[in-house]
Amino acid sequence: MGYTRLPISANMVPPMCFCGDPCKMEKSDKEDTYRRRYWMCANWAFDPPQKAFIRGELEPPPLCDFEEWIDTEVKLEDRAFLEGCKEFDREIKRRIALRKKEEEERKAKIEEAHTRIATLNKVEREIKL
Ligand SMILES: [Zn+2]
Repeated sequence: MGYTRLPISANMVPPMCFCGDPCKMEKSDKEDTYRRRYWMCANWAFDPPQKAFIRGELEPPPLCDFEEWIDTEVKLEDRAFLEGCKEFDREIKRRIALRKKEEEERKAKIEEAHTRIATLNKVEREIKL
């Protein structure tokens, strides 16, 4: 998840979190909840540099994992996009497998040719003897 706050429209009221601050909006990047918006604790993803803690300028954020879904379903266009990605992935894998198979077949043919030449050489030597 990114740490950039998504713009909240005027008619959206962020719920109050367990820790007393209004929540921030995030979007899921997981496959089964792809791009679904949700409220989450604004302090949870608060991620200042470690040296700020060391200098004593900041208190570590409370471990609050408040989360609440805004969207209940993955949008059609997002689902389509995800399907497109998966299709692309399958196609890449298919092509890699195909190329590997072709390479193996090519090697087998070369191997076979070598064996044939070796056999011919052997026969030739036997004729000469
Ligand atoms: Zn909180």
